[in-house]
Amino acid sequence: MNNIIISVKNLVKNYGNFQAVKSISFDVHEGEIFGLLGPNGAGKSTTLEIIETLREKTSGEVLVNGFDLDKQPDEIKKMIGVQLQTSGYYPNLTLVELITLFNGLYNRNADPMALLEMVNLKDKAKSKVKELSGGQRQRFSVATTLINDPKIVFLDEPTTGLDPQARRNLWELIRNIRKKGTTVIMTTHYMDEAEVLCDRVAIIDAGKIIVEDTPDRLIDHLVSTGFERPKEMKHANLEDVFISLTGHSLRED
Ligand code: ADP
Ligand code: MG
Repeated sequence: MNNIIISVKNLVKNYGNFQAVKSISFDVHEGEIFGLLGPNGAGKSTTLEIIETLREKTSGEVLVNGFDLDKQPDEIKKMIGVQLQTSGYYPNLTLVELITLFNGLYNRNADPMALLEMVNLKDKAKSKVKELSGGQRQRFSVATTLINDPKIVFLDEPTTGLDPQARRNLWELIRNIRKKGTTVIMTTHYMDEAEVLCDRVAIIDAGKIIVEDTPDRLIDHLVSTGFERPKEMKHANLEDVFISLTGHSLRED
């Protein structure tokens, strides 16, 4: 088993009288794609933002690459890449100009064209964010998480609202990030996405983690209890038909 790079113990977050995160514990292993999987309101973003040092916790312990969130938040900030909402970007700057701006903010020297190539947006180098499709915007926002060469990338619902092609392009991109040795922690409420993309998932509901394991083992466990799908599965679904007819390529470009 790989080293534990994020360790969360008994994390609690209260908003006034409301307990949004109810003493959860989980570990993320170095080099994996870890998914926090749960419905809207489960506490996924709250949990992610606490680890990202962007939100105060009520209680509990968080260690990121050995650094204690309470004592060394600046060390944690340096080694993580956090996806921001693209709506917050300066609308009149081009993608290259934005990356250059972020380079300045992070005191880094990332090559804008290499980053854009990584997320398949080289052709759009001189475009503005407002001129991009939804999937392209999401890929660009993932590119911005890589500027400071992070050890861990945080993605909060990176594929929500995207069409099937754009989702698959983003999955490919996330796998490529992991291939380079970067750990990815992401949230999603798409079960199919977690199943094909995540090495391990924690299922979170109403502020509690119900289970944490690989998708395979969770499914095998359910099957071993005698569970059977009510209907025999076909070898493809409507999404496969759609992708097959319209093409896997970057049609959104
Ligand atoms: P998720 O990302 O899983 O959809 P969130 O972490 O955003 O869930 O929210 C968890 C719960 O906490 C929800 O019930 C939400 O309404 C509540 N919540 C989130 N942020 C705040 C806040 N700033 N003040 C009060 N309640 C909040
Ligand atoms: Mg959320």
